[in-house]
Amino acid sequence: MVARRPLVAGNWKMYGTASEAAALARALKERLAGVESVDVVVAPPYTALHAVRPVLQHTGIVLAAQNVHWAAKGAFTGEIAAPMLQEAGCGAAIVGHSERRQLFGETDDTVRGRVRACLDHGLMPILCVGETLAERDASRTLDVVRGQLDAALDGLTPEQVLRVVLAYEPVWAIGTGRTATPAQAEEIHAFLRARIGTSFGAPVSHHSRILYGGSVKPDNIDDLMAQPDIDGALVGGASLKAEDFDRIVRFRGLTPRP
Ligand code: PEP
Repeated sequence: MVARRPLVAGNWKMYGTASEAAALARALKERLAGVESVDVVVAPPYTALHAVRPVLQHTGIVLAAQNVHWAAKGAFTGEIAAPMLQEAGCGAAIVGHSERRQLFGETDDTVRGRVRACLDHGLMPILCVGETLAERDASRTLDVVRGQLDAALDGLTPEQVLRVVLAYEPVWAIGTGRTATPAQAEEIHAFLRARIGTSFGAPVSHHSRILYGGSVKPDNIDDLMAQPDIDGALVGGASLKAEDFDRIVRFRGLTPRP
């Protein structure tokens, strides 16, 4: 059995001005002091990165962006490049979130470019994959997530894949209050891990962290984290409430509140 260090990431989406985000970060800093056994990541909106960065200094909480462009610079109005994020204090970036894929035309090709940009510029990519409800109902879940995974990791070395954090986020569970059951999530996590093993070797698959995302809340995190292939969570709505996010980070009583 490989012990993978748990990781809980909060995706703040398009919520929070810079001052609101800094206040949330301060609340998290206070609540999460002393948590050492879980990696914690927060992804505020771009405009709040500069305000959140100093709050998180020396806390161990990693600052992340919600997306990143594939080019290091260029005529791409409205986009943000990896070196800019790195200088802004980011250590990670979410890539391929379903809201980007569904609402903003993100494709497997652009997702692959964004993963590479992260790896080339010292950012940890949090790579999201997941099926829609129609795809699940048509029994296409495994094909869909395998296709997204293969496309995003195509051409990477095993060492690079080890730096990727994968997030399985069924689209039908995001922001809907409808969570995958622990068994449903575990089935896909085990499948994705096996696929990484086939493509990049067993040691990589054993060490790769796979997060679950989709209406994760304080009352379902413990059962999700009891699954052998679930290594953490990517949390949207509940990450905006310090108390809820704190409880999620302290899943299964791993790090009780003092
Ligand atoms: C997400 O945005 O990645 C997410 C999982 O959102 P929620 O937790 O609100 O479903």
